[in-house]
Amino acid sequence: MELLGLKRGLRDLEFNNIQVQDLVTDRHVMIKSNKKKDIPEINHYFDVCHIAKGISRKLENAAKKRGAGQIRPWIKGIVNHTYWVAASSGDNNQLKLDKWRSISNHIINVHNHDSEIFPEYEHGELEPRDWMQQGLDVFHSVVNHFAPKSTHFFYTPMLARLCVAALHYNENGTRKQSMTKEVKVAGMLPKGKKGTGMYCKT
Ligand SMILES: [Zn+2]
Repeated sequence: MELLGLKRGLRDLEFNNIQVQDLVTDRHVMIKSNKKKDIPEINHYFDVCHIAKGISRKLENAAKKRGAGQIRPWIKGIVNHTYWVAASSGDNNQLKLDKWRSISNHIINVHNHDSEIFPEYEHGELEPRDWMQQGLDVFHSVVNHFAPKSTHFFYTPMLARLCVAALHYNENGTRKQSMTKEVKVAGMLPKGKKGTGMYCKT
């Protein structure tokens, strides 16, 4: 329905000799896949408001998970960061990507980034806040995955589970974050959450 509405709207504009250069939509799947094919001459942008809402929802859900409450105080800031990235980068997609990725440093109190075009923070001095700790929280979440606190394990099974958690963490700790053109929000979440699909039943 949305795609049909869009096509009809554009056809009416064309009929009235109005040329459309830029199009802003939500991330409707059919619009996204058909736009490139049907109207390649129009620049297509996603409405940052929809993206920010999606990120906020995903972070809220992530923060509800056991051991992930530390995410919650950061949600507002990450959403603001999303708007700032869109407003301050023009059409420079790499700059958008590098600025967006910088948030994963910022939340662990690192403000210099591995980027040629966005190497340094642009904010001023920051007041002390509840910074996340790189690695430690991620490892805890991996341990919780393999040895849930809701289940009691005797010493030997617990030791085995901690070993598996450590192996899993070390195996995946240096994996590159998966990124799509739209920059997956998963890129900001602890890497341990992404896992390799390994799952042990109790
Ligand atoms: Zn920063």
